[in-house]
Amino acid sequence: MKGIAKGLGVTMKHMFAPKVTSAYPDVPIDMPDRFRGVQYFEPDLCIVCNQCVRICPTDCITLTGKPNPDPLKKNKVIDTFNVNFEICILCDLCTEVCPTEAIVMTNNFELAAYSRDELYKDKEWLYANNTHIRSENSTNLSPAAKGGKDNGSER
Ligand code: SF4
Ligand code: SF4
Repeated sequence: MKGIAKGLGVTMKHMFAPKVTSAYPDVPIDMPDRFRGVQYFEPDLCIVCNQCVRICPTDCITLTGKPNPDPLKKNKVIDTFNVNFEICILCDLCTEVCPTEAIVMTNNFELAAYSRDELYKDKEWLYANNTHIRSENSTNLSPAAKGGKDNGSER
């Protein structure tokens, strides 16, 4: 009898305790600001220095540059920029070394796909991934990124 009462006591205690589970995916989860999620890429900030490619431990970044369309400027601009999320380990190193913060972390983590091909993201996809950008990286960004829905910089 004492054991039953004790068990019921535990049940009652947890019945009225605050819930620790969430109704994801119906209710989106807000990750902490330092969470290492899928990167945002701002093509206009990229100076094609290749530092992100060199430091990437899994070789999952590929990029190419092209001559600046402005004939008065000698620098290159980015042509293609791809991240293979099959092998990206979201280690944050590419964003740490980027001198212009062209590539920065976001809190977004949903990458589930039916095909591996869909995990190969190009610069247009990464540029459109402009929500929940880590707040410390959001000062340099374009109005498009700053205006991103639920942008971390606006929290
Ligand atoms: S987060 Fe790490 S593994 Fe992913 S692209 Fe950047 S450096 Fe490479
Ligand atoms: S480190 Fe930054 S600026 Fe350099 S190529 Fe990579 S994204 Fe572009």
